[in-house]
Amino acid sequence: MTHPHTDRNHYKDIWVFTEIQDHERLLEGALELLTKGREIADTLGVKLCAIVFALNAGQYLPVVERYGPDVVLFCSDRSLKHYDSQIFPDLYAGLIRKYKPSIVLFPSTEAGTDLAPRLAQRFSTGLTSHCIDLSIMDSDEYGRGLLVMKRPAYSGNAIATVICPYTRPQMATVQQGVFDKVEVPRNKPEIIQIPFDYDAAKLRIASLEAPVRWDKPKVPLEQASIVVAGGRGMSSKRNFDRLYDLSEILGGEVGATRVPVFNGWCGEERMIGQTGKTVHPRLYLGFGISGQIQHTATIIDSEIIVSINTNPEAPITELSDFVITEDATSFLSLFIERLRKEKRMP
Ligand SMILES: Cc1cc2nc3c(=O)[nH]c(=O)nc-3n(C[C@H](O)[C@H](O)[C@H](O)COP(=O)(O)OP(=O)(O)OC[C@H]3O[C@@H](n4cnc5c(N)ncnc54)[C@H](O)[C@@H]3O)c2cc1C
Repeated sequence: MTHPHTDRNHYKDIWVFTEIQDHERLLEGALELLTKGREIADTLGVKLCAIVFALNAGQYLPVVERYGPDVVLFCSDRSLKHYDSQIFPDLYAGLIRKYKPSIVLFPSTEAGTDLAPRLAQRFSTGLTSHCIDLSIMDSDEYGRGLLVMKRPAYSGNAIATVICPYTRPQMATVQQGVFDKVEVPRNKPEIIQIPFDYDAAKLRIASLEAPVRWDKPKVPLEQASIVVAGGRGMSSKRNFDRLYDLSEILGGEVGATRVPVFNGWCGEERMIGQTGKTVHPRLYLGFGISGQIQHTATIIDSEIIVSINTNPEAPITELSDFVITEDATSFLSLFIERLRKEKRMP
């Protein structure tokens, strides 16, 4: 069967949206995707290409190069300082049209999950969101070398296996923390600078300033051995901020459900779950978190889970090793006080 939009034979290579967050940090999930991309590119015998758009994209290339791309396409401009849902898709689509990658991967971040569907729509191709595994098909049924994408389905009760046999590119957003990031010694990649020649007249937004994040994790959440997470039950930013006191005493990091992130109590880099980070700490403490699958799917590898919730029947209790049925903020204050006393802290 042929598809009107795509001559599949013209599409090769594998691309990774190598996202820069908060205009200063290479996203860990992007480096994990480059590592997985390298493996897939080697299996298929094609090139791995990293795409970097930023205010000053060149400064990230030395790190990107360590994760094994054969090609780096980068573009620098003031307008690329923050993700923009008009400029990024336009630039990216132009590059896809020109270079014709067969597989295009994005981290499941706010930017990745905005950019990927816009592109999928433009190319009338398939997109599998929030994947937890990627591999290459080893069967003749639909054609060899197809990308096999796995993602949770039916609220996490099943795993769906998805392929995109007829259109190109094959596209996926991938949850962070599901693959390891591994540096690979290779020859220097080919570096291609894309001139920024965006027509400013097309812009609907004159200027965009994102708030500066003061609360970034010291270590990426994926690597934290203790995670102190808060949800809607913390009820305010003021209460939520007390989680930082606890995490400092315990030597952990603060995480969140989607609710505190949407409420502006903390930054997106602290979000745990399907569209956020995957964590596997020795200890996970969940304050005022109900335990919806989009959050809990990525905490289940925690060694010990403790939940603090006024509702003894909240779904998170089923996963918990210890359940504390209390008001989250009151318990947090008492816990901090007790730990400070025991550790003889002021
Ligand atoms: C496509 C999609 C992707 C998503 N991705 C994510 C994701 O990556 N991460 C994520 O977290 N969510 C994600 N969500 C949202 C997710 O479905 C839930 O809405 C969210 O996780 C709920 O957060 P919560 O537990 O903080 O809030 P709620 O579900 O509202 O739960 C609040 C809990 O606090 C308890 N509580 C209330 N008051 C107190 C108190 N005083 N003391 C103690 N406990 C109290 C309540 O009993 C309740 O159990 C996604 C949703 C969709 C549709």
